[in-house]
This record gives sequence, structure tokens and C-alpha cells, in this order.
Amino acid sequence: MKDHAALAEAFNKDEQRVDWHDETLWWVRQKRDRASHQIPDWEELREAASQIKHNVLSDLGNYLEQFEKQAIGNGITVHWAADAKEHNDIVHSILKRHGITQMVKSKSMLTEECHLNHFLEEQGINVVDSDLGELIVQLAKEPPSHIVLPCIHKKKEEIGDIFHEHLGSEKGESDPQILTETARVHLRNTFLTRRAALTGVNFAVAETGEFVVCTNEGNADMGAHLSDVHIASMGIEKLIPKRKHLSVFLRLLTRSATGQPITTYSSHFKRPRPGQEMHIILVDNGRSVQLGREDFRNSLKCIRCGACMNTCPVYRRSGGHSYHTAVAGPIGSILAPNLDMKQYADLPFASTLCGSCTNVCPVKIDIHDQLYKWRQVIVKEGYGDKKKAAAMQAMAYTLSSPKVYRIAGKAGRLVMKYAPFAVNNGLNPWYKQRDMPEPPKESFGEWYAKNRS
Ligand code: SF4
Repeated sequence: MKDHAALAEAFNKDEQRVDWHDETLWWVRQKRDRASHQIPDWEELREAASQIKHNVLSDLGNYLEQFEKQAIGNGITVHWAADAKEHNDIVHSILKRHGITQMVKSKSMLTEECHLNHFLEEQGINVVDSDLGELIVQLAKEPPSHIVLPCIHKKKEEIGDIFHEHLGSEKGESDPQILTETARVHLRNTFLTRRAALTGVNFAVAETGEFVVCTNEGNADMGAHLSDVHIASMGIEKLIPKRKHLSVFLRLLTRSATGQPITTYSSHFKRPRPGQEMHIILVDNGRSVQLGREDFRNSLKCIRCGACMNTCPVYRRSGGHSYHTAVAGPIGSILAPNLDMKQYADLPFASTLCGSCTNVCPVKIDIHDQLYKWRQVIVKEGYGDKKKAAAMQAMAYTLSSPKVYRIAGKAGRLVMKYAPFAVNNGLNPWYKQRDMPEPPKESFGEWYAKNRS
């Protein structure tokens, strides 16, 4: 069973990497702050976005049917997938019907969640990720570590080595401009030779049956416009009621994500061009279960901006891979236990509950409250850490009895004074990375009794 603490410990071995990972994401967070402060009605926008999503989640079935009807009317083929397997099978069947064995893909966290690349490779289909960061992690045979900045954990020298091995760039070349040019040449050829393109969906408009894909590199557009078959994979929560609501979300999304005023390309797809096939797959994969969990349904408002990751002190210093799930960070720690409570029982505990994630979330998800609530559910369901549960029980017993508390305090001070090695040793995880303070000579109660006059 993978464990956040153990994976974070491995990431922390490279202190230099941890430091710039932390500093880079904090820099992105500061950019987000400056961009949001330039919008006088920022808080009203957040509230509007939250309410629009609330409305969608309250009537999701009807909005989905409305979207389906409009999309079919526009000439799009609509598919429904109950889970990841169904989604992957649908993609495969479309490709198989056309005899396609190569596909270009733009960034889609849903396909990461469904492990689509791996599945298609097993079926003999070659998939090239066309977002630069995604391409880097794909070549490195790693999952993305961040939903917006997939290779934020990689140094440019490492990327140079990867490109030298796979794309033939000069050995030792680490100039970002030259590496980007190398990727561009490789991808241009890919776009021109692939007959199928898969994109994600940022927003789908129920009123019109269209969908919007936001990228900074234009790779979704290149793939979709040059292909004979365009497949769009969409989580069922991505709906908004009307096109006019896009003005709320597009203003919030990129400011929250990278501090840009707007995404470079916000592309609307409404119907296939003549001779092209366009498919959209509406994927549930646990979302309707989450919708039914009253305490956690708000997590489906997420627009995947990544702001909660950039601000999270735990994420910044433990790295995205330590979350061992497609969507890392605070929001991933809410979504993952819904899919598998046992496998992801560690994640809601990977938080200080400081609330910074909740403060920056553009759709006002009560992230840290939900993390706290997941902890309670996980412990109640018996998936909590047994040692921690025993320690908490001992603590509850000690703190609920003044007499036991006094005795425990006295014993602790004596041990710390005469046998500190009993506490300060390698078996104590707290001591491993911290200095133990000098024990006080007396408890506060004893001091107070002497000095109260
Ligand atoms: S939970 Fe909020 S802050 Fe985090 S990725 Fe989703 S929308 Fe962005």
C-alpha cells in the first residue's frame, strides 16, 4: 500500500529540489494573488462561480440530458461511461472502427484518472501527449505531478537528458528555449500524421451543446483541427448552464492557475467540421457517488486550476507524486478516498488544515473542512492508522483526567531529564526531523500554584 508520508520522505531526500519546488509554486501563488487583486469584484466572481456550480450539481441529471440533446443536434456523437474501464473501451472502439493505431492527446486529467495511455498501449495504440509538460513526463515514464504544471518536479537539466535520449537534442543541452523548439518540431510532425486527437474538456455548455478547452500552447486546437476523429473526454461535473456563464469561469480559471489574465487559447468546439467525426464521452467514474455524499459533493465544483496545490505547504514540500493519485494536493485528497477509501486513507491526513486552500479556491470549495471530515469518516470506517488511533485513545484518557495528566507530565519531564534517549531516538518519527526542547523544571500548574499571589 502506498503511503504519502513515506513517498514524501523519499522526495525530501533531495533538499535542493524540495526548496525550488516550494519556491516556484509559491511564486505562482503570488502571481495568482496579484492577478486576483487587480479584479475589484474578485470575491463576487468567486461567489457567482460557486453558486452556478451549486445550481448545476443540484440538477445535474437534467443539465446532462439538455447538453446531450444539444450536442447530438450539433452533430456530435455522445457516449456515456460509468467508469474508467467503460471510458477506455469507448475510446478504443472508436479508434478500432477507423483502423487508427496512433493518436495525439492534449492534456486531460480525466484520462490520467482512467489510465488511458497505459490501456491503449496494451491494445497496440501509440499515444503522444502534446502538452509540453505532459510530453516530458510521458517520455520520462512518470505520471504528472501537478494538474496544471505536470513536470514542475523536474529540473531543466533532467529535461535536457530526457530530450537527448528520446528526441535527439544535443547532449547536455538544457536551454529551455532550445528544448521547447525541439519538442515543437517533434510535435508538429505528430500533429500532421495523426488521424485521431483526444482532448479534455474544461467547460461544457448545456444550453448550446458546445464545449470549451483551455490551453496555453494551442496543442488541443492543433490536434483537433488536423484530425479526422476528435474525441473529447469529460467528467460529468464539467457542465455550466449557459454560455454567458463562461465569462465568470474564464476570468477565474487562469488567474487562479498561473496568474495570467486569460488562457492563451480558450477554444470552443460545437460541431465537427465537414468530413470529421466528433465524439464526447461523459464519464461518471465515482462522481455520482460523491454527489450523493452531502459533506463532499461541493468538491465536484472544482475547475482544476491547481491554486490549492500551489498554496499548500504540504504539497509544496512533498511533491505531487507523494499523493499517488492522478489529481494530487488538497483537492485530490478529497476526490481520491471517494474512489477507494482504503487505498487513499492516508491522503486527507496529508494536510495541516491551515485553510489556505479554501481561501484561494475560485469556486469556494470548503477544502480543509472536507479534509477534516474525511478523516472522521476514514477512522470510523476502520481505515485509519491503527498506531495513531491507539495514541489518540491514550491521549484522550490522559487529557480527560487531571490526576493522570499531572502524573504523565511529571513522568515525561523525568524521562526527558534523566533518560532523553528513551524519547529522542530513531524510533520516534517526531524526533527524526526536529529538535526536542529542554523540558521545563515544573508544570504550569505547579508554577501557577507558587506564583498566583
Ligand atoms: S479545489 Fe479549487 S483551488 Fe483546488 S484545483 Fe479545484 S478549483 Fe482550483
